[in-house]
Amino acid sequence: MAGLFFTTLFGALSVAAFPGARQAAKPAPPAPPAINPAAPEVRILHVRGKVYMLVGAGGNITVQAGDDGVLLVDAGLAPMSGKVLAAIKTISDRPIRYIINTHVHPDHTGGNEAIAKAGSTIAGGNVVGDIGASAGNQATIIAFQTVLDRMSAPTGQQASAPEGAWPTDTYTTHEKKLYFNGEPIEIIHEPNAHTDGDSIVFFHKSDVISTGDIFVTNGYPIIDLSRGGNYQGIINALNHIIALSTPAAMQEGGTMIIPGHGRLCDQSDVVFDQEMLTIIRDRVQDMIRRGMTIEQVKAAQPTMDYDPRYAGNRPFWTKDMFIEAVYKSLSQKPPAGHP
Ligand SMILES: [Zn+2]
Repeated sequence: MAGLFFTTLFGALSVAAFPGARQAAKPAPPAPPAINPAAPEVRILHVRGKVYMLVGAGGNITVQAGDDGVLLVDAGLAPMSGKVLAAIKTISDRPIRYIINTHVHPDHTGGNEAIAKAGSTIAGGNVVGDIGASAGNQATIIAFQTVLDRMSAPTGQQASAPEGAWPTDTYTTHEKKLYFNGEPIEIIHEPNAHTDGDSIVFFHKSDVISTGDIFVTNGYPIIDLSRGGNYQGIINALNHIIALSTPAAMQEGGTMIIPGHGRLCDQSDVVFDQEMLTIIRDRVQDMIRRGMTIEQVKAAQPTMDYDPRYAGNRPFWTKDMFIEAVYKSLSQKPPAGHP
Protein backbone atom coordinates (compact mmCIF):
# COMPACT_ATOMS: atom_id res chain seq x y z
CA MET A 1 0.00 0.00 0.00
CA ALA A 2 1.44 3.33 -0.96
CA GLY A 3 2.54 6.11 1.35
CA LEU A 4 -0.75 7.84 0.82
CA PHE A 5 -2.19 5.85 3.70
CA PHE A 6 0.63 6.24 6.21
CA THR A 7 -1.34 8.66 8.33
CA THR A 8 -4.74 7.05 8.03
CA LEU A 9 -4.28 3.92 10.07
CA PHE A 10 -7.73 3.79 11.54
CA GLY A 11 -9.74 6.26 9.57
CA ALA A 12 -12.33 5.54 6.95
CA LEU A 13 -9.66 5.88 4.31
CA SER A 14 -7.72 2.87 5.52
CA VAL A 15 -10.85 0.73 5.37
CA ALA A 16 -11.49 2.02 1.88
CA ALA A 17 -7.92 1.10 1.01
CA PHE A 18 -8.66 -2.57 1.57
CA PRO A 19 -11.99 -3.24 -0.07
CA GLY A 20 -11.17 -6.98 -0.06
CA ALA A 21 -11.24 -6.88 3.71
CA ARG A 22 -14.99 -6.50 3.55
CA GLN A 23 -15.67 -8.66 0.53
CA ALA A 24 -13.57 -11.78 0.98
CA ALA A 25 -15.20 -13.44 3.98
CA LYS A 26 -18.54 -15.18 3.47
CA PRO A 27 -20.80 -14.89 5.32
CA ALA A 28 -20.08 -11.24 5.94
CA PRO A 29 -17.89 -10.70 9.01
CA PRO A 30 -19.28 -8.82 11.98
CA ALA A 31 -18.96 -5.06 11.77
CA PRO A 32 -15.71 -3.75 13.25
CA PRO A 33 -16.37 -2.93 16.90
CA ALA A 34 -16.27 0.67 18.01
CA ILE A 35 -13.26 1.83 19.99
CA ASN A 36 -13.84 0.99 23.63
CA PRO A 37 -13.93 4.26 25.59
CA ALA A 38 -12.51 2.41 28.61
CA ALA A 39 -9.33 1.66 26.66
CA PRO A 40 -8.74 4.68 24.48
CA GLU A 41 -5.09 3.89 23.81
CA VAL A 42 -5.73 0.44 22.38
CA ARG A 43 -7.43 0.62 19.01
CA ILE A 44 -9.04 -2.12 16.98
CA LEU A 45 -8.87 -2.53 13.23
CA HIS A 46 -10.87 -5.32 11.58
CA VAL A 47 -8.48 -6.84 9.06
CA ARG A 48 -10.47 -9.60 7.38
CA GLY A 49 -12.66 -12.53 8.31
CA LYS A 50 -12.00 -13.52 11.92
CA VAL A 51 -8.83 -11.47 12.23
CA TYR A 52 -8.39 -8.08 13.94
CA MET A 53 -5.40 -5.92 14.73
CA LEU A 54 -4.94 -4.18 18.11
CA VAL A 55 -2.68 -1.16 18.04
CA GLY A 56 -1.28 0.94 20.87
CA ALA A 57 -0.29 -1.68 23.47
CA GLY A 58 3.38 -1.89 22.44
CA GLY A 59 3.86 -4.22 19.49
CA ASN A 60 0.82 -4.84 17.31
CA ILE A 61 -1.45 -7.62 18.57
CA THR A 62 -3.36 -9.88 16.19
CA VAL A 63 -6.71 -11.23 17.42
CA GLN A 64 -8.48 -14.18 15.78
CA ALA A 65 -11.90 -14.80 17.30
CA GLY A 66 -14.69 -17.31 16.71
CA ASP A 67 -16.73 -20.11 18.29
CA ASP A 68 -13.63 -21.91 19.64
CA GLY A 69 -12.52 -18.81 21.50
CA VAL A 70 -9.85 -16.17 21.03
CA LEU A 71 -6.29 -16.57 19.76
CA LEU A 72 -3.73 -13.78 20.00
CA VAL A 73 -0.46 -13.21 18.22
CA ASP A 74 1.62 -11.32 20.82
CA ALA A 75 0.42 -9.73 24.03
CA GLY A 76 1.75 -6.15 24.15
CA LEU A 77 3.46 -4.43 27.06
CA ALA A 78 2.64 -5.68 30.57
CA PRO A 79 1.09 -2.41 31.84
CA MET A 80 -1.32 -2.39 28.87
CA SER A 81 -2.87 -5.79 29.64
CA GLY A 82 -6.05 -4.39 31.20
CA LYS A 83 -6.73 -2.25 28.17
CA VAL A 84 -5.89 -5.10 25.80
CA LEU A 85 -8.35 -7.39 27.61
CA ALA A 86 -11.03 -4.67 27.48
CA ALA A 87 -10.48 -4.29 23.74
CA ILE A 88 -10.67 -8.06 23.18
CA LYS A 89 -13.98 -8.17 25.08
CA THR A 90 -15.49 -5.82 22.52
CA ILE A 91 -14.58 -8.33 19.79
CA SER A 92 -15.56 -11.57 21.56
CA ASP A 93 -16.94 -12.89 24.87
CA ARG A 94 -15.38 -16.29 24.26
CA PRO A 95 -12.37 -17.36 26.38
CA ILE A 96 -8.82 -16.57 25.30
CA ARG A 97 -7.29 -19.94 24.39
CA TYR A 98 -3.92 -19.19 22.81
CA ILE A 99 -1.23 -16.53 22.80
CA ILE A 100 1.45 -17.03 20.13
CA ASN A 101 4.62 -15.01 20.77
CA THR A 102 6.46 -13.87 17.63
CA HIS A 103 9.63 -13.31 19.71
CA VAL A 104 10.90 -12.57 23.20
CA HIS A 105 10.88 -8.74 23.43
CA PRO A 106 8.71 -7.33 26.26
CA ASP A 107 6.63 -5.12 23.96
CA HIS A 108 5.33 -8.42 22.51
CA THR A 109 5.44 -10.76 25.53
CA GLY A 110 4.91 -8.37 28.48
CA GLY A 111 1.17 -9.04 28.54
CA ASN A 112 1.59 -12.84 28.51
CA GLU A 113 1.01 -13.40 32.20
CA ALA A 114 -2.08 -11.26 32.79
CA ILE A 115 -3.73 -12.10 29.48
CA ALA A 116 -3.01 -15.85 29.70
CA LYS A 117 -4.45 -15.91 33.24
CA ALA A 118 -7.63 -14.28 31.97
CA GLY A 119 -8.04 -17.17 29.52
CA SER A 120 -8.19 -20.94 29.67
CA THR A 121 -6.72 -23.87 27.77
CA ILE A 122 -9.00 -26.12 25.78
CA ALA A 123 -9.01 -29.39 27.73
CA GLY A 124 -9.87 -31.69 24.88
CA GLY A 125 -8.76 -32.93 21.51
CA ASN A 126 -7.92 -29.56 20.10
CA VAL A 127 -4.73 -29.02 22.08
CA VAL A 128 -1.63 -29.56 20.00
CA GLY A 129 1.50 -30.64 21.82
CA ASP A 130 2.31 -30.29 25.49
CA ILE A 131 0.33 -27.73 27.37
CA GLY A 132 2.28 -27.46 30.59
CA ALA A 133 1.32 -27.85 34.21
CA SER A 134 -1.28 -25.11 34.25
CA ALA A 135 -3.56 -26.69 31.67
CA GLY A 136 -7.10 -25.41 32.02
CA ASN A 137 -6.16 -22.50 34.26
CA GLN A 138 -4.79 -20.22 31.62
CA ALA A 139 -4.41 -19.77 27.90
CA THR A 140 -1.65 -21.76 26.21
CA ILE A 141 1.38 -19.63 25.31
CA ILE A 142 3.10 -20.85 22.15
CA ALA A 143 6.57 -19.76 21.03
CA PHE A 144 9.76 -21.03 19.47
CA GLN A 145 11.92 -22.79 22.07
CA THR A 146 14.55 -20.03 22.32
CA VAL A 147 11.89 -17.59 23.53
CA LEU A 148 11.36 -19.77 26.61
CA ASP A 149 15.11 -20.27 26.99
CA ARG A 150 15.71 -16.53 27.09
CA MET A 151 12.76 -15.79 29.39
CA SER A 152 13.58 -18.53 31.88
CA ALA A 153 17.40 -18.23 31.91
CA PRO A 154 18.18 -14.70 30.85
CA THR A 155 21.70 -13.52 30.22
CA GLY A 156 23.00 -9.99 29.83
CA GLN A 157 20.58 -7.11 29.90
CA GLN A 158 17.22 -8.84 29.43
CA ALA A 159 15.31 -8.81 32.69
CA SER A 160 13.96 -12.13 33.85
CA ALA A 161 10.35 -12.62 32.87
CA PRO A 162 7.99 -13.92 35.57
CA GLU A 163 7.24 -17.62 35.27
CA GLY A 164 3.58 -16.92 34.49
CA ALA A 165 4.69 -15.18 31.30
CA TRP A 166 6.76 -18.10 29.99
CA PRO A 167 5.62 -20.03 26.94
CA THR A 168 3.87 -23.27 27.93
CA ASP A 169 4.04 -24.92 24.50
CA THR A 170 7.25 -24.49 22.51
CA TYR A 171 8.38 -25.90 19.18
CA THR A 172 11.85 -26.52 17.80
CA THR A 173 11.03 -27.61 14.28
CA HIS A 174 10.47 -25.58 11.14
CA GLU A 175 6.78 -25.03 11.89
CA LYS A 176 3.83 -25.80 14.13
CA LYS A 177 0.22 -26.01 12.99
CA LEU A 178 -3.10 -25.37 14.73
CA TYR A 179 -6.69 -25.64 13.54
CA PHE A 180 -8.74 -23.06 15.44
CA ASN A 181 -12.05 -21.35 14.71
CA GLY A 182 -12.37 -23.34 11.50
CA GLU A 183 -9.11 -22.01 10.17
CA PRO A 184 -5.67 -23.57 9.58
CA ILE A 185 -3.04 -21.50 11.41
CA GLU A 186 0.60 -22.05 10.52
CA ILE A 187 3.29 -20.88 12.96
CA ILE A 188 6.59 -20.76 11.08
CA HIS A 189 10.06 -20.26 12.55
CA GLU A 190 12.28 -17.79 10.70
CA PRO A 191 15.88 -18.55 11.66
CA ASN A 192 18.13 -15.76 12.99
CA ALA A 193 16.33 -12.65 11.76
CA HIS A 194 15.08 -10.00 14.26
CA THR A 195 16.17 -12.46 17.02
CA ASP A 196 16.88 -16.20 17.05
CA GLY A 197 13.33 -17.03 18.16
CA ASP A 198 11.15 -15.41 15.50
CA SER A 199 7.84 -16.89 14.40
CA ILE A 200 5.47 -15.60 11.74
CA VAL A 201 1.82 -16.67 11.85
CA PHE A 202 -0.22 -17.40 8.70
CA PHE A 203 -4.04 -17.45 9.00
CA HIS A 204 -4.87 -19.44 5.90
CA LYS A 205 -8.61 -18.80 5.50
CA SER A 206 -8.55 -15.15 6.56
CA ASP A 207 -5.42 -14.78 4.36
CA VAL A 208 -3.49 -12.71 6.89
CA ILE A 209 0.14 -13.02 8.01
CA SER A 210 1.42 -11.61 11.32
CA THR A 211 5.14 -10.99 11.01
CA GLY A 212 6.37 -9.80 14.42
CA ASP A 213 9.32 -7.41 14.22
CA ILE A 214 10.86 -9.03 11.13
CA PHE A 215 8.72 -6.46 9.31
CA VAL A 216 7.87 -3.02 10.72
CA THR A 217 6.73 0.23 9.10
CA ASN A 218 7.92 2.68 11.76
CA GLY A 219 11.63 2.65 10.92
CA TYR A 220 14.57 0.46 9.97
CA PRO A 221 14.21 -3.10 11.32
CA ILE A 222 15.95 -3.81 14.61
CA ILE A 223 18.60 -6.51 14.35
CA ASP A 224 19.00 -7.80 17.89
CA LEU A 225 22.54 -9.17 17.52
CA SER A 226 22.75 -9.98 21.23
CA ARG A 227 19.77 -12.33 20.89
CA GLY A 228 20.81 -14.08 17.71
CA GLY A 229 19.44 -11.58 15.18
CA ASN A 230 21.01 -11.33 11.74
CA TYR A 231 20.51 -8.85 8.90
CA GLN A 232 20.56 -11.40 6.08
CA GLY A 233 18.16 -13.48 8.17
CA ILE A 234 15.66 -10.60 8.06
CA ILE A 235 15.96 -10.46 4.26
CA ASN A 236 15.55 -14.26 4.09
CA ALA A 237 12.41 -14.02 6.24
CA LEU A 238 10.98 -11.20 4.11
CA ASN A 239 11.57 -13.33 1.00
CA HIS A 240 9.65 -16.11 2.70
CA ILE A 241 6.74 -13.79 3.63
CA ILE A 242 6.64 -12.59 0.00
CA ALA A 243 6.58 -16.22 -1.18
CA LEU A 244 3.70 -17.10 1.17
CA SER A 245 1.55 -14.06 0.31
CA THR A 246 -0.53 -13.43 -2.79
CA PRO A 247 -1.19 -9.96 -4.21
CA ALA A 248 -4.60 -9.09 -5.60
CA ALA A 249 -5.01 -7.46 -9.01
CA MET A 250 -2.64 -4.54 -9.65
CA GLN A 251 -0.51 -5.70 -6.69
CA GLU A 252 -2.70 -4.05 -4.01
CA GLY A 253 -4.73 -5.97 -1.45
CA GLY A 254 -4.63 -9.77 -1.42
CA THR A 255 -2.88 -11.24 1.60
CA MET A 256 -2.93 -8.73 4.44
CA ILE A 257 0.29 -8.35 6.44
CA ILE A 258 0.21 -7.26 10.10
CA PRO A 259 3.66 -5.86 10.95
CA GLY A 260 5.26 -5.94 14.40
CA HIS A 261 4.85 -2.17 14.60
CA GLY A 262 3.09 0.30 12.33
CA ARG A 263 0.22 0.19 9.90
CA LEU A 264 -1.60 -2.67 8.18
CA CYS A 265 0.18 -3.70 4.96
CA ASP A 266 -0.02 -5.96 1.95
CA GLN A 267 2.58 -7.84 -0.09
CA SER A 268 3.78 -4.80 -2.02
CA ASP A 269 4.82 -3.13 1.24
CA VAL A 270 6.92 -6.17 2.14
CA VAL A 271 8.45 -6.16 -1.35
CA PHE A 272 9.42 -2.50 -0.93
CA ASP A 273 10.99 -3.24 2.45
CA GLN A 274 12.87 -6.26 1.09
CA GLU A 275 14.22 -4.23 -1.83
CA MET A 276 15.35 -1.42 0.46
CA LEU A 277 17.14 -3.80 2.82
CA THR A 278 18.74 -5.63 -0.13
CA ILE A 279 20.02 -2.37 -1.64
CA ILE A 280 21.45 -1.27 1.75
CA ARG A 281 23.00 -4.73 2.18
CA ASP A 282 24.77 -4.53 -1.18
CA ARG A 283 26.10 -1.06 -0.46
CA VAL A 284 27.45 -1.96 2.99
CA GLN A 285 28.78 -5.31 1.75
CA ASP A 286 30.71 -3.49 -0.97
CA MET A 287 32.14 -1.04 1.58
CA ILE A 288 33.22 -3.96 3.79
CA ARG A 289 34.94 -5.57 0.80
CA ARG A 290 36.82 -2.33 0.20
CA GLY A 291 38.11 -2.49 3.77
CA MET A 292 36.11 0.39 5.21
CA THR A 293 35.66 0.62 8.99
CA ILE A 294 32.28 1.03 10.71
CA GLU A 295 33.00 4.75 11.17
CA GLN A 296 33.86 5.16 7.47
CA VAL A 297 30.70 3.31 6.44
CA LYS A 298 28.56 5.53 8.69
CA ALA A 299 30.22 8.62 7.22
CA ALA A 300 29.48 7.34 3.69
CA GLN A 301 25.73 7.33 4.52
CA PRO A 302 24.65 4.11 2.80
CA THR A 303 21.02 4.68 3.86
CA MET A 304 20.79 8.35 2.88
CA ASP A 305 17.99 8.03 0.30
CA TYR A 306 15.80 6.09 2.77
CA ASP A 307 16.55 8.19 5.86
CA PRO A 308 13.77 10.77 5.40
CA ARG A 309 11.23 7.97 5.69
CA TYR A 310 12.92 5.53 8.10
CA ALA A 311 15.54 7.26 10.26
CA GLY A 312 15.16 9.39 13.30
CA ASN A 313 11.79 8.51 14.76
CA ARG A 314 13.05 6.02 17.35
CA PRO A 315 15.79 7.20 19.75
CA PHE A 316 16.49 3.63 20.91
CA TRP A 317 17.27 2.53 17.35
CA THR A 318 19.04 5.30 15.48
CA LYS A 319 20.23 5.22 11.89
CA ASP A 320 23.82 4.78 13.13
CA MET A 321 22.82 1.84 15.34
CA PHE A 322 21.11 0.25 12.35
CA ILE A 323 24.15 0.74 10.07
CA GLU A 324 26.44 -0.60 12.78
CA ALA A 325 24.29 -3.73 13.17
CA VAL A 326 24.16 -4.22 9.39
CA TYR A 327 27.97 -3.93 9.24
CA LYS A 328 28.53 -6.37 12.10
CA SER A 329 25.95 -8.78 10.75
CA LEU A 330 27.41 -8.81 7.25
CA SER A 331 30.88 -9.36 8.69
CA GLN A 332 29.60 -12.64 10.17
CA LYS A 333 28.81 -15.90 8.46
CA PRO A 334 25.24 -15.67 7.05
CA PRO A 335 22.52 -17.78 8.70
CA ALA A 336 21.25 -20.96 7.14
CA GLY A 337 18.06 -19.37 5.81
CA HIS A 338 14.62 -20.87 5.52
CA PRO A 339 14.44 -24.53 4.43
ZN1 LIG B 1 11.16 -6.94 18.86
